[in-house]
Parts: sequence; structure tokens; C-alpha cells
Amino acid sequence: MAETEPLYIYNTLSGKKEEFKPIAPPFVGLYTCGPTVYSDAHLGNVRTFLTFDIVYRYLTFLGYNVRYVRNITDVGHLLHDADEGEDKIEQRARMEKIEPMEIVQKYTNGFHDTVKTFNLIPPSIEPTATGHIIEQIEMIQRIIDNGFGYEVNGSVYFDVKKYSEQHDYGELSGRKIDELLEQTRDNLEGGNEKRFFADFAIWKKASNETIMKWPSPWSEGVPGWHLECSVMSTKYLGPQFDIHGGGMDLKFPHHECEIAQSVGADGINPVKYWMHGNMLTVNGTKMSKSLGNSFLPHELISGDHPLLDQGYSPMTVRFFFLQANYRSTIDFSNDALVAAEKGLKRLMNAVNLLDKLTIAEKTTIDIDSLIISCEKSMKDDFNTPITLAHLFDGVKMINSINDNKDQITKTDLKRLKDHYFNYVFEILGLKAENEESESRGLPDELMSLIINLRNQSKDNKDWATADLIRDELKRLNISIKDSKDTSTWNYEN
Ligand code: AMP
Ligand code: ZN
Repeated sequence: MAETEPLYIYNTLSGKKEEFKPIAPPFVGLYTCGPTVYSDAHLGNVRTFLTFDIVYRYLTFLGYNVRYVRNITDVGHLLHDADEGEDKIEQRARMEKIEPMEIVQKYTNGFHDTVKTFNLIPPSIEPTATGHIIEQIEMIQRIIDNGFGYEVNGSVYFDVKKYSEQHDYGELSGRKIDELLEQTRDNLEGGNEKRFFADFAIWKKASNETIMKWPSPWSEGVPGWHLECSVMSTKYLGPQFDIHGGGMDLKFPHHECEIAQSVGADGINPVKYWMHGNMLTVNGTKMSKSLGNSFLPHELISGDHPLLDQGYSPMTVRFFFLQANYRSTIDFSNDALVAAEKGLKRLMNAVNLLDKLTIAEKTTIDIDSLIISCEKSMKDDFNTPITLAHLFDGVKMINSINDNKDQITKTDLKRLKDHYFNYVFEILGLKAENEESESRGLPDELMSLIINLRNQSKDNKDWATADLIRDELKRLNISIKDSKDTSTWNYEN
């Protein structure tokens, strides 16, 4: 691996940028908290997963052998503060009157479609919480054996107060245990089983009605939400691994609890670099399903949502996200997306021009500094907006060569092409317009052919064929809406 400049990563744990030194190079272990599959992922979720897609892509580009683990939370994420109330998936299953595992399958499939739409590379391993119940029970036992867990009525809680006597609970999030202590009395009223407000469930006894539950030494129940990530990250990446990522909102309590569990069970601080992506906001408020200000990827693409003036292509959205630093919030607006659409077009036009430029005897542009600048910005904590700015400096150069105001040799043109190929496609994961429109445009074209055939049969009063077409499409979950002049089509939910 030809290492030139070091890579710097902002480590939430230390609160500063640190030189990235993998534990066992060239291997890099990367873990990201995945989705809770009880509903469709919204665009805010996509932003966080995109952040770690860039981390994965860039580390791979640098030559590291990255094992990327992103889990699926399919049990244990409870409705209130993550460890009280009904399981989110069970609640949804009751609402939709289907099995919890059907909910899990449905929204896992949907999640996979979504991340593919935005050109996210699938992880190396995608473990599920339900697939690791035994390991979770084993970890709970180790926590109890070490004196950091206690059982009440079949549920097991992590003893935060005891832990904080020996360790620094709050080291990641900066929460002070004394402040948490003060809240204890108020919050423990009402028969709460926890000894201390900040204690959290690592095993919850299930009610008789609960469908998803497993036998354990303490009760038939479910593991606490934070536990799955502790178990699955260390199982696949080792007791201490390089990078753990997730959205900023997971820093506390989820990630703080992950540290406490690993230290409590095995005495090892599990993660060397903690990375947190910031939120996608709408008018300054975090996009969230419960606030009703979220939209789903297919709404964004079709433009079919009150917040949207028009539809935007997935690559426009990807470009929009990349224009902000992952540690800053980014506010959704139609203006910003329209600007992103234009920016992406300008970039891709220049990339297309690279195949059409005339070769000269000498080079009059500074390719070296372009390449060095892009490397510098990516190595400065994956700074994609600055990298894009450098790529746009290059766009000016490409246009200027195309206008015969500058010149380039054959060798330098190859270097320039390689550079854009690496950065635009491999590292930033953008796709060429035609690739995207091919995948989006073809169904549209086929559907308009089918709709025309159906309209022709209606004109010929061939109702049997018209109905057959409609029914067969319905079987494929495609509905046709007829209005006065046109017919439109859509996927049914
Ligand atoms: P969940 O499925 O709710 O567990 O969330 C999946 C991921 O999306 C987590 O890493 C969250 O931190 C992240 N997330 C949730 N809302 C937003 C948002 N508005 N902007 C960015 N990331 C988010
Ligand atoms: Zn997690």
C-alpha cells in the first residue's frame, strides 16, 4: 500500500481529529448501526448510511482490506427510550396483522432496495439481532458474573452506578454521571424495576402475548437493544476493532451503553475510532418519522410529497449529501436540490468530455496539484464538500481544454481520466447519468408501451385485452390511473 499522507479521522471519543492507525493493517474493521426494520427507511437514515458508504469506499480505495459490518435490528428496539414498552416490530406486526418476521422481511427488502437506489455498496456482513440471541445471552451472563448486571423479575439491567465507580460512563457522550444521579429519584417513581435512572435493560422479560421471545436463564424474553451491536461488532471484528459509526442521535445512550457492556463483560474498550454522522433536517428540525417531516426515497424520486416541488434523481440526492461535511447538519430544501442537480450535471458533462478531448504536445494545466488537493481533503476526515470543490476546479480545466484555451498530453489525459474515474465513481459513488436513466428510464418506456397497447384495445372496444393488461399489471403491484387525456402508472404499496 503506497501510503503518502496520513488519514485523519475525527474521533468522537477524544473530540479531535486523530491520525488513523488501524489495529492490524491492512485489515480494517468497520461497524455501523443498521436500520430497525419496522418501517421504510427515510431520507435521513439514508444520509447516515451514505456517510459510512463513503468511509468504506475511501478506505478500500486506499488499499485497506475493510470488513464492513452493518447490522439489521429485527428485535429488541422498544418503543420508549429504546428499553421500555412494546417492541417496535411487534407493534407494527399487530397493526399490519402479519407475523413480526414478515414485517422484518418486508422492511429489510425495502431497505436493500433503497440503499441500492442510492448506490451504496452492500456490507461484507449483515448480521441480525435475532440470529445472535445465544451470543447475547452469553454476554449478559458475563456482565452479571462481573457484577455489572442485576436481575429483577426476570429482566436484567446494567448497573450503571456500579460501573461508573470503576469506569468512565459518559466518556463518549460527555454525560456526567452526577447529573444522571440527580434525575434518579424523579424517574424511578411508578414501580420502575431499575435501581438507578441511567441503568438500562440488557434482557427484558416478555409478556405472554409477545410473539418474539427466547428462553434464557432469567425468563422468556428479549435482549436489550444496545446489546446486539456489542455482540455482533466484536463477534465479526474482534474484541477491539477500528471504526464504529452511526448517526449522532445514537451517541447516547446507544453507543455509550455499547462501551459499558463490552468493558463490563470483557474488560475491553471495543472501539478505537467512533464516528458520528450529523442529521438531515427540514427547516432546522431533525427529519424523523414521528415528527411527520420525513419522506421516503420513492416520494423524493417521484416528487409526490407536499414538501417537494418536483422529483429528484437518486444521484442528485447523493450529490446533495456529499456537498455537506458529514459532521454538519444539512437542511433539506428544493433550492438546494435544484442546485445539486445542476452541479451534478456540470460535473458529469466534464467527465464525459474527457473522452473527447484533443491531445496536444504539452500540458498547460496543473494536474498534480489537483490530484494532491483531492487526496488531502479526503484524508482530512473524509471532507467531501472540499473534494467536490477541487473536482470543480478540474471541471474548469477540462472545459478550457475543450475550448482549446488549454492543452493536455496523452499521458496526462490518462492521469486526469483515472483521477476523475476514481473520485467521481469509486470514492464518491456517483453514477453516470445514462446509467441512472437507463435503470429508471427503461421501466417508464416499457410502461408507456403497455399503456398505449391498452389504450388501443380500449379504442377498438377490445375490453377483454384491456382488462387482462390491467389485471396482470395489478398482479405485479403496478396500478394504472386513467385521467381525461393521459394514463399514469405507479407501484402499489
Ligand atoms: P434507525 O432505523 O431509527 O435505527 O436509524 C438508522 C440510522 O439513521 C441511525 O444511524 C440513525 O442515527 C440515523 N438517522 C435517523 N434519523 C436521521 C436523520 N434525520 N438524519 C440523519 N441520520 C438519521
Ligand atoms: Zn447499534
